[in-house]
This record gives sequence, structure tokens and C-alpha cells, in this order.
Amino acid sequence: MTAFDQPQVCDLAIIGGGASGLLTAIGALHGARDGLRLVILEPRLPLGHGIAYATRDPGHLLNVPAGKMSGFPDRPDDFLDYLLESGAFPDSDREALAARFVPRLHYAAYLRHRLQQAVAASPARLEVRGERVTAMAAGEEGITLQLASGPPLRAAAVAVCTGNALRPLPARGVSSLPAGRCIDAWEVEAVREIPADADVAIVGSGLSMADCVVSLAAAGHRGQVHVLSRHALLPLPHAAGPAAGYDPQPLLAMTLRQRVRTLRRHAAEAARHGIPWQSVMDRIRPLGQALWQSLSVQDQRRFLRHAVRYWDVHRHRIAVPVHASLLAMRAQGRLHLHRGRLDSAVAEGACVRLTAFDARRRPFQLDVRCVINATGVEMRAQAMRNPLLQQMLGSGIARPGPHGIGIDSTADGELVAADGRVEPRVRIVGSLRIGGLWESLAIPELRGQAAQAAAALAARV
Ligand SMILES: Cc1cc2nc3c(=O)[nH]c(=O)nc-3n(C[C@H](O)[C@H](O)[C@H](O)COP(=O)(O)OP(=O)(O)OC[C@H]3O[C@@H](n4cnc5c(N)ncnc54)[C@H](O)[C@@H]3O)c2cc1C
Repeated sequence: MTAFDQPQVCDLAIIGGGASGLLTAIGALHGARDGLRLVILEPRLPLGHGIAYATRDPGHLLNVPAGKMSGFPDRPDDFLDYLLESGAFPDSDREALAARFVPRLHYAAYLRHRLQQAVAASPARLEVRGERVTAMAAGEEGITLQLASGPPLRAAAVAVCTGNALRPLPARGVSSLPAGRCIDAWEVEAVREIPADADVAIVGSGLSMADCVVSLAAAGHRGQVHVLSRHALLPLPHAAGPAAGYDPQPLLAMTLRQRVRTLRRHAAEAARHGIPWQSVMDRIRPLGQALWQSLSVQDQRRFLRHAVRYWDVHRHRIAVPVHASLLAMRAQGRLHLHRGRLDSAVAEGACVRLTAFDARRRPFQLDVRCVINATGVEMRAQAMRNPLLQQMLGSGIARPGPHGIGIDSTADGELVAADGRVEPRVRIVGSLRIGGLWESLAIPELRGQAAQAAAALAARV
């Protein structure tokens, strides 16, 4: 910092203006005293988009029914109320809308609307800056944030809401592919601009893959779609039906193997009564964090190594029409599912040649016009292409979370430094808490974390 770079000062700085950042800001505004200065730092405006809600494609649906997507733990119907007030679904009554998987684009508008209302009702002042934070330092006078441009910002308290990062494509040669030949699944416009007759390969077979297929179809794509992943498991669909009635609490005392066996038994039992297996999974949804925290460290490791892909397809499901269109495309011979580990991606004339190894380590090749990276969310903070996280880990103000995933924090989300010291002025909200909580990705968890962080940080300042 030079003499010309004197820090500007605020009370509460929120790094990241996605869903977690906005929910934290709204919470802080509600409880704020007169004159509190709050700053949101977010390079990708408008606010509220983040990764999940930036899409303008109406075919990209929430994977949670509208009735469960309230941003506020004390107002469980809030998103539903907003949708009804907005008039966007005149053909749906309240009950039908609560069960519906609505387009994700409504969610960013909802968050922004609630933020505007909170600003109008609060005695605090909110400033939004289109800035990326590149470094953090803790001192007696406060937490100093370096910004990509402009003078640093010093805050009495900070919420880190930097969210999700895409896993890099795990292939040799990717960085030398010509522009437009390797596209990130979350760049929705780039996916839609793929020529209609181009054959494409999508690496990864989860929810981002499903989004890409929906976008391609909406853009009139007629080429072949090759989906390549290590396990070749497509996401499974949601299902309506009666709720499974078993008691999930005994699972908490079981080993991983016992839990898997017990859940299979419950699913078989449910099927005998015409209840879908999805209801068996929904029963353990509220226990997600407790189930993770009650596993032994060895079982957590086993889960990450052997069970996580199977967990993902059962837990992170897609809307029924999206699933049906994936199956229809397979049946028509337009979508091909390949099981394999990607090794390299190189330009060969007008195409990209992917080389992968199958389960018996035999190589096979796919020649396509372009490759889409849909490998999903990166869990290791040290592998995320985010200079702030690299600096925090490098300087020791933070350390990786359990199993090397996310960032370490206390049970309340306070940042834990490399030497184990707790920094109560910095709270983590969102997917960076994955190592300690596992379930820390979706709104039903984020709203609680945001409310808790907002109350704690606002109380400090
Ligand atoms: C494709 C997709 C679909 C999803 N669908 C659903 C769904 O239907 N329902 C559900 O409950 N959950 C869904 N999720 C889970 C999703 O993670 C959460 O709902 C939510 O969007 C996460 O918000 P976030 O703010 O924590 O992270 P993000 O949305 O990733 O936002 C983080 C923000 O921080 C900013 N940022 C990062 N680093 C910095 C920095 N150094 N300085 C300043 N700003 C920074 C980024 O620009 C970004 O805007 C989905 C996730 C994905 C990826």
C-alpha cells in the first residue's frame, strides 16, 4: 500500500454479490443501527446472479420446488409470495406454484427486489461496488481488503460469500485449443451460439450437463451430443408421491455402509407401497449436515472416494421434463453417454479430438467441433481460480477445510487461520464451508448461514 492508497473505511464488507452475499446484506440491513456503512463487492453485476441465477434461459429451472426456495428461515413462503405478487404465473394457484420448478431467472430478480426493500426500510447505507477483492489482511484496526482496482477498503467485519468455481477441464492440451472450441457450461450465451449442426462433447454428466442440453435444444441444435464422464451416471428425476414415513434419526448412529444398506431397505419398502425412492431421500434432506458430521473421518473419506457420484445423482435431481428430454434424445440416437476418463483435448483441423480411457484403461477418441466443460463445482479452495482465496491460503489467514475441501471455519462459520486461531470478524457463508458441513450449497442451507452471519457481524459493528 502506498501513501496515496489510504484505505477507505466501512463497517461491514460483503465479498460476493450472489445469493449468499445478498441474503447476508438483507439480514444485516434489517438489524442495522442508524448510519451503519455496508459495502457489497461484486465484479459481475447485476447483483444476485452469481453462477446459478445468471441464466436468462427459461428452460433452466430451479432444482428445488418454488415453495422451498425462500431466502429467509423465518418466512418459509417468501419466494412463493414474491412469485404470486409478481404475476409471472397467472395460470398457477398457490399450491400448484409451491410444487413447481420455476425458471432460475426469477430467483435473481427476487433477491434484488428484497434487497431494494431492505435498503428502503433500513437506517443503514448500502454501497455496491463492481470490484473484485484480491487480498485480505487482518490487523488491530480492522480487516483490510485489496481490490483489483482503486484504493483498499478497511472493514470492521467481513462476510466471505465468494461461492462456486468451475472445476478446470481435466485434460492435457486444453489451454492451447483455439477460442470458442472449449466453452464453460456456465457461459450460457456461448453454449447457445454453438453452430446448430456442430457435434459437441460435454465433459461431466451432472446438472450443468443437463442445462447445456436444454440450451442447445432451445437454440435448435441438430448435431450429435457426446456426454463423457467417469461414471456415466445421468442425473435422476424428481418424483411426486406420498412422503416416506420412516424415522431417519437412527441413521446418525450408523457407519456409512450400514446407512447405505438401510436406505436401500427403506427404498425397497417404500416401493412396495407405491412410494417413490425420491421420498426416502427427501426424508434425510433436513439431516444432511448432521449425517455428514456424525460420520467418522474414515467414513467421510470413503464417502468422498467411492460414494459421492452416487450420492450426487440421487440427491441433486432434475425436473421431470428435463429428464424426459435427455432420455428421448438418447433413444433418438442424438445423445451418447460415454464412460471414461478424459486424458487430452487437441485441435485436429476443424475439430477437437478428445482422447479418453475407458474402465479397462483402453483409449478411445471423440472428434467434435467443440467441447463443453460441465465438470461441476470445484470443492478444493486451493484449486479455485480465485486470487483472493489463493492469497488467503498462501498468507495463512485461512487454511483448507476438512479433507482439503473448502476453507476451514468454526461451527458458526468464523474463519480459522493456518495456525488454528479463530478470526471472529470474518465469517464464511456458502459452499466454502463444505468440508465441515457437506450440505452447504443450496438455498435451504445458505439462508440460515446468511441470517446467522448477518446477525453476528452486525452485532460486532
Ligand atoms: C448451475 C447451478 C444451478 C443451481 N441451482 C440451484 C437451485 O435450483 N436451487 C438451489 O437451492 N441451489 C442451486 N444451486 C446452488 C447454488 O450454489 C446456490 O443456490 C447459490 O446460487 C449460491 O450462491 P453464492 O452466492 O453462495 O455463490 P455464487 O452464486 O457462486 O456467487 C458468488 C459471487 O461471488 C463473486 N465473487 C467471487 N470471488 C470474488 C472476489 N474475490 N471478489 C468479489 N466477488 C467475488 C462472484 O462473482 C459471484 O457473483 C445451483 C448451483 C449451480 C452452479
